[in-house]
Amino acid sequence: MTKPKYTVIAPIYNEIENIPHLYARVCEVMDQTGEAWELVLVDDGSKDGSTDALRELGKKDNRVRPVIFARNFGHQIAVSAGMDYARGDAIAIIDADLQDPPEVILELIEKWKEGYDVVYAVRSEREGESWFKLTTAALFYKFIQKITDVDIPLNTGDFRLLDRKVLNVMNSMPERNRFLRGMSSWAGFKQIGVEYKRHARFAGETHYPLKNMIKLALNAITGFSYWPLQLLSKTGVGLVVLSLLLLVLFIILALVGKVDLTFVLATWLTVIFLAGVLLISMGILGEYMGRIYDEAKGRPLYIVAEAPDKDE
Ligand code: UDP
Ligand code: MG
Repeated sequence: MTKPKYTVIAPIYNEIENIPHLYARVCEVMDQTGEAWELVLVDDGSKDGSTDALRELGKKDNRVRPVIFARNFGHQIAVSAGMDYARGDAIAIIDADLQDPPEVILELIEKWKEGYDVVYAVRSEREGESWFKLTTAALFYKFIQKITDVDIPLNTGDFRLLDRKVLNVMNSMPERNRFLRGMSSWAGFKQIGVEYKRHARFAGETHYPLKNMIKLALNAITGFSYWPLQLLSKTGVGLVVLSLLLLVLFIILALVGKVDLTFVLATWLTVIFLAGVLLISMGILGEYMGRIYDEAKGRPLYIVAEAPDKDE
């Protein structure tokens, strides 16, 4: 088989009812490109027979390449594995439940052909998702944008098309707690969004319970900002300032004879002050921890898009 131009990656966790439809729609869409393509399906420890369904598909159609995990590792790791196995020049990531319509991939490819390296799909509308999911997601994206220097676009999921060079960058990032949307933004290069309507799940139920949403949010926050660490020192500074202001206030009130500067009052001021000093110290330790964490992540220092030949 010749090397495919396009790779479509879909993570699969108990999606038995969706697999035939996913396969049919991806075939229909990708055949329209007139180029060679492959579909990398990563089975993330399914228990409902999806694994066998993938094996069958792989035997029937050699454009389908199943990657089967030994157990459930989670959505972001499944997609990462798919990215390791992808051979295309442009790689599309979609959900297996058809919430991301495969037809949109053609629009993503158009932009890629115009020279964009990351084409992310922006949800203009979301169907069939709970009020709770919509609100928490909206708040989460706003918050992430506020606390991080990396420009992570609002209302985007992992549904996107990556150029091979961006894929190589992301594959070279060894961090274990992965937030792929952040990582593809972090890589840089030419990025653009394309709007689409996110549909309801075709069949089955979401595998993203609140617990997993929180885990993903924590990966995003800790992977792309120091905000929680900085919060410590900021609170500390706030408390120290507060205790000093109160001290001045009480001294003035004592001088004009309105209050007695009692032992209890003095104790309270000391407690607030010390709490502040402690939090500042912890914040400072945190800053160092953050740097150690950065080093431990071992991300490349920079990503070069163009450069003169090193040997010249
Ligand atoms: N998924 C996965 N591993 C998991 C959970 C989900 O590979 O542990 C896959 C799932 O099969 C689907 C995609 O990740 O293709 C998105 O999951 P889901 O639709 O449950 O999330 P939601 O769309 O509700 O956020
Ligand atoms: Mg879904």
